[in-house]
Amino acid sequence: MIFTRDLRIDDNPALVASLRAQNTSFLFVFDQKILADGKCPTKKLQFLNEAISDLSGSLTSLGGDLAVRKGQWLEEVKTHLAQLNPNEVHIAKDHSQYAKLRLANLKSWCESQLITLHCHPGITAVEPGQLHPAGGGEYKVFTPFWKAWIKTPKRAPVPAPIPTRKPLHDAAFNPVANNQSVPKGGESYGTRQLVTWLEKSVDSYEETRDFPSQNATSLLSPYLHFGCISPLRAVTLAGDFQNSEAFVRQIVWRDFFTQILDARPDVSGVDYRDRGNDWSYNKQQFDAWCSGYTGVPLVDAGMRQLNQQGLLHNRVRMVVASFLVKNLHHDWRLGANYFMSRLIDGDVASNSLNWQWVAGTGTGNNPNRILNPETQAKRFDRSSKYIQTWIPELSHIEPTEAINPSSSTRRKIGYPEPIVDHHKSVEAFKKAISKMSTNTSPS
Ligand SMILES: Cc1cc2nc3c(=O)[nH]c(=O)nc-3n(C[C@H](O)[C@H](O)[C@H](O)COP(=O)(O)OP(=O)(O)OC[C@H]3O[C@@H](n4cnc5c(N)ncnc54)[C@H](O)[C@@H]3O)c2cc1C
Repeated sequence: MIFTRDLRIDDNPALVASLRAQNTSFLFVFDQKILADGKCPTKKLQFLNEAISDLSGSLTSLGGDLAVRKGQWLEEVKTHLAQLNPNEVHIAKDHSQYAKLRLANLKSWCESQLITLHCHPGITAVEPGQLHPAGGGEYKVFTPFWKAWIKTPKRAPVPAPIPTRKPLHDAAFNPVANNQSVPKGGESYGTRQLVTWLEKSVDSYEETRDFPSQNATSLLSPYLHFGCISPLRAVTLAGDFQNSEAFVRQIVWRDFFTQILDARPDVSGVDYRDRGNDWSYNKQQFDAWCSGYTGVPLVDAGMRQLNQQGLLHNRVRMVVASFLVKNLHHDWRLGANYFMSRLIDGDVASNSLNWQWVAGTGTGNNPNRILNPETQAKRFDRSSKYIQTWIPELSHIEPTEAINPSSSTRRKIGYPEPIVDHHKSVEAFKKAISKMSTNTSPS
């Protein structure tokens, strides 16, 4: 069995199917193409290493060994399989352009060697392609997808195989408790994070999820990205708790974006709906955005959290993305690539399609949605706790002023003036949009 983005033993259909054979061996390959050129952020790589080590401990408890290789993925897999000469190979299906290409190449090689390749579900709760709107194709809008997702019968999560030896896991675990710590990778930690969070926090999630200083969200995204926990297990367990629908809905957004990526793998770099945007580029402004020195407190707090922690609260992801695209008029791809270079949970489907949603080129039905960072801070960070946590310069001034300090305060504490005026930059964006729609309207 080859592990990819399903680094767990619970609810892993590929693992369970592979264990039906008389002898099973396990392989994971660190793919040089994904890791090369510093493309994988250090914290993400650390999380992955921890997840592999945890998985290896679990497989040992099942009486197996995880072989770990590093290099060109297909070459490494072929070399490994050639030594084992198996009858069959099991793997989870994945949905990005690159993952599909990798799998197609493996499939043709397996055929040439008379090895049967079995591809299994498990990366999402409901498989991409299982749900279609009446006219066929993928769902392009979330709400009808959500309604169909709720109704569709789901496979039952498959329990973890019974260990034959004592597990080799590190027993010390503290659920991620504050917004400055980094989650530890692996199924053991992910499972405990899921269970602890459901027990303590899912009940109030709907009211608290938009407030970045409240640490109210599950922090499960890196575990879901690497498959340390099963999305199907997460929604099934959540069903036992009251008021868990808002949480389940978020996991369904993940399924929704993955089914779009599956149908249109090019959306990682191409507009899902091309609106003919004419983006501009200004290095100084882009660098200020990346480093968190735009002079707009909520945007800077978010970018500094991203740079330091490798994670970022969803509400703030929307605010910083809207600022880059709608205020600075920069191409969403620049922002998406920067996010991927920093995020521990960086995920092709969720990242590209959320950026497109904010940019107005994606699935949202309001392409002109603009988030005013000051208004957003007044609504979701009223006491400036989040801003003051991440921007030390602003931590000693009055919380009400930290949302938008006066020029004299900025001079005194060495915090820059805003690099753009919100209202003027929004007017310019709207003008460009209306010109585009005039140019593209039928004559
Ligand atoms: C511009 C932008 C880029 C993003 N990039 C990523 C990314 O690379 N990887 C990623 O996992 N999420 C991404 N998100 C979605 C979301 O911000 C994160 O999933 C969430 O902040 C993770 O925190 P959590 O686990 O505490 O989420 P919770 O609020 O506890 O939600 C539970 C789970 O639901 C899923 N989820 C929640 N919101 C979304 C969403 N909008 N889209 C898809 N799935 C969602 C995640 O798997 C998350 O772990 C992005 C959002 C935006 C606006």
